[in-house]
Amino acid sequence: MNDARELIQRLVRPEIRALGRYHVPDARGLIKLDAMENPYPWPESLERAWLERLRTVELNRYPDPRAEELKARLRQALAVPPGAELLLGNGSDELIQLILLALARPGATAMAPVPTFVMYRQIALAVGMEFAGVPLAADFALDREGFLAALASRRPAVVFVSWPNNPTGNLFERVDVEAVIAAAPGLVVLDEAYHAFAGATFMDRLAVHPNLLVMRTFSKQGMAGLRLGVLAGAPAWLDVLERVRLPYNINSLTQASAAFALEHAHAFSAQCRAIVAERARLHEALARLPGVDVWPSRTNFLLFRVSGRAGEVHAGLRAAGVLVKNLDDGGALAGCLRVTVGTPSENDAFLTALAGLL
Ligand code: PMP
Repeated sequence: MNDARELIQRLVRPEIRALGRYHVPDARGLIKLDAMENPYPWPESLERAWLERLRTVELNRYPDPRAEELKARLRQALAVPPGAELLLGNGSDELIQLILLALARPGATAMAPVPTFVMYRQIALAVGMEFAGVPLAADFALDREGFLAALASRRPAVVFVSWPNNPTGNLFERVDVEAVIAAAPGLVVLDEAYHAFAGATFMDRLAVHPNLLVMRTFSKQGMAGLRLGVLAGAPAWLDVLERVRLPYNINSLTQASAAFALEHAHAFSAQCRAIVAERARLHEALARLPGVDVWPSRTNFLLFRVSGRAGEVHAGLRAAGVLVKNLDDGGALAGCLRVTVGTPSENDAFLTALAGLL
């Protein structure tokens, strides 16, 4: 044991030793409103047809390494402009990793407005890059001047913009993001993980900005278990990323299931519309509770503040059978919790439990 510690001390880079692990709490028996999943299962008839489709998958063979059939369907479904290509990842997490692996070199920096999705920083540090977080304005808007100044001084190889932003839920002003793309000395990745709930995209700007990549995921729309992320951008950039991609990163079951889901996209869009409607109801109900401040959201979650009581309220909700995310960091997110929009009955259970604690 001591030998292992000594070896690790000697062999593992200090920034990796200092990293925390991505913590996923045990949600067994709880109403799970902590991870931005879609709460709805597939309709039964759809599930039967999907299982039939899976029978045709040859598990003894390697998957199609280029996932050609799935990519062709995705091009159409995502309205990828002519001239842009697609790269698939085992979740968008893997795409973030591929981008950073390709750009990692001593002294290179990844930049993002903060608070934001934690994996940009986590993976940047893991691959040996520096991470520069640029604080958002007090209302969580993008601080355009501050960001442009940081771009000029840090000259990042890549900027990640979660659009809308996790965990604040807002959609930065399009003109501010355009200004960042225009001024960035390197790549800009628009992470549109919550696109299904925001109805806004930079996909059509790929033809204008050669340094832009647009990222999507199947996770928030009901297929978190599939692990499928999609990156669109200039063929030259994706060609570079292909060099660091593992050959069979998208397994056969995921390829078949995602193609099937795209053929039945209407079922998923209907679920997303239901989630957006519930989001409005949940927002109103939270805004009415004493001691709660809630932010507007263009995603499938809501950020709310219970000043000075986040830990206690988080634990109280858990004891009442509801799991949300505690984001209380003593900084910009002091007192903040994040709740995913669930089914109407899950949301009611959450609201009842929360009202009881306040
Ligand atoms: N980007 C953002 C902004 C996210 O919030 C998440 C998930 N929390 C991801 C990427 C990763 O999604 P996945 O790997 O499931 O595609």
